[in-house]
Amino acid sequence: MNFLLVLTLIVIISVQSRQENVSLDPCNDFYDYVCSNDTRSITELNFTSLFEDREILNPNISFPNNGTYITFDQILSPYSLMMWYMVVKSMDTPTVGSEFFDEATREYATKKNNSEKFSFALENLENLNLTLTNVFYNSLYANIEVLNQLNLPASEENEYLHHIFDLMKNNTIEEIWSSSLSNKSKKEFEKELNKSKVIFGLLDYNNVTMLEETKLIYETEYYRLKSLLSSNDLDTEIAEKIIRLGATDTATKNLGKRIPGYTPQFLFSAFASNMANEAFNQNSNIYCGIVTRSDLQEPILTIADTIFVLAHELMHFVYPFGIRLLPSNVTKAANKCTQDEVKMMGDSDAVKPIDGWFSENITHEDLPNLLGLRMVMKMVARKSANEEQLKNALETILSGLCIQGKPKNSILPNHHPFEISINTAVRQYPLFSSLYGCRLGDRMFAEPEKFCNPLGGDVNLEDYKIKNDTEDVGGFFNYIMDTANAFNFSFTN
Ligand SMILES: [Zn+2]
Repeated sequence: MNFLLVLTLIVIISVQSRQENVSLDPCNDFYDYVCSNDTRSITELNFTSLFEDREILNPNISFPNNGTYITFDQILSPYSLMMWYMVVKSMDTPTVGSEFFDEATREYATKKNNSEKFSFALENLENLNLTLTNVFYNSLYANIEVLNQLNLPASEENEYLHHIFDLMKNNTIEEIWSSSLSNKSKKEFEKELNKSKVIFGLLDYNNVTMLEETKLIYETEYYRLKSLLSSNDLDTEIAEKIIRLGATDTATKNLGKRIPGYTPQFLFSAFASNMANEAFNQNSNIYCGIVTRSDLQEPILTIADTIFVLAHELMHFVYPFGIRLLPSNVTKAANKCTQDEVKMMGDSDAVKPIDGWFSENITHEDLPNLLGLRMVMKMVARKSANEEQLKNALETILSGLCIQGKPKNSILPNHHPFEISINTAVRQYPLFSSLYGCRLGDRMFAEPEKFCNPLGGDVNLEDYKIKNDTEDVGGFFNYIMDTANAFNFSFTN
């Protein structure tokens, strides 16, 4: 190697390391600061795609027909057909947001009688991709495949994770009660939150036999319905769609007998989401799927991910579901404050998101991150004996959330890029700048007078600080793992 080349290389290396140092400043980009050290090894899973037209197995049961045929509306009522159309369509997330369903529901409500309602449902169904109607069947395959690959502890309801959920739920109720909302609103929120339940994807009801039975019910119903239609009807694509939705209806209702307390639509969405790193809050019931995006050999990071996701979903009770219980000046100011923060964080990121990344209509996804992180950091403070433990917990939470295998600031359907939303929440954690020594002018520094207040009132710094009489249990996640041990819980067998 000649001298000039060596010199050039040294110059390049030193420039690169200087650039790395800039991006590794917690006061500049906390997500990068934590996630550049992400060494988790997430298991690659192989499973059936939910979006392929897979042949429905014939269970070899004969359904003799005596020549009497049924009509489409005898398979599913107009209401059920419309409902399943919307549930299945919701899997097509890049194209549909909540406005889509509001509009469809409103229009359906204007139809006067059953036949008008059924025609409207059929019209919508015409535009639904045929393979999408196969989603539930494919998801049963995929769930069975994934469960056979992961060595998860078998359980109906995972006791430890449900204990964590109850803890988070109680803290959410506490957050509401310590806010400046009216007593009437607080009581309403408490009632709603107390009603809520959760399913932990692949960790609750992870019984392969139950899923195989559900698959057989689907197949049997599919071929039974086929035998009831005339050959003319059977020749149409719309018949195939209705039959699949009819089989979905029967199979999910049967699943509902095994998993009581949830609607067939919720169970559909839950089992279809088990492979997709998703979580959602549907009519006060929460689905939390974290197994397929986590490194199960790193239980602390996996549980940190779970805790943050639960906090986010629980805060959806407020934004957007509970905004009617908040004064409009509070929600207006909170939306504006959060929008300004998110926009600033996106526009000032070293990695620019693609043009058009920002939308005011999806602030209700950033607000739960902001509220959720604040709540979790208050919980952390109650189990921390020093500032190092506060910082460790914050970094543990972020480490559990790092996205792998995608370019930074990738566009997400109906959400702002995750890294931007999460950095905004960290910036709005009231102790962040003092813990990391960030100053006015630093990207992650928020002036205290500019803290957003999504529940009204003002930020009380004392809520986030370490209490003098706190016993040293080694920090929040030590406490969380001690609890896991007490429940004899681990993510793998
Ligand atoms: Zn959300």
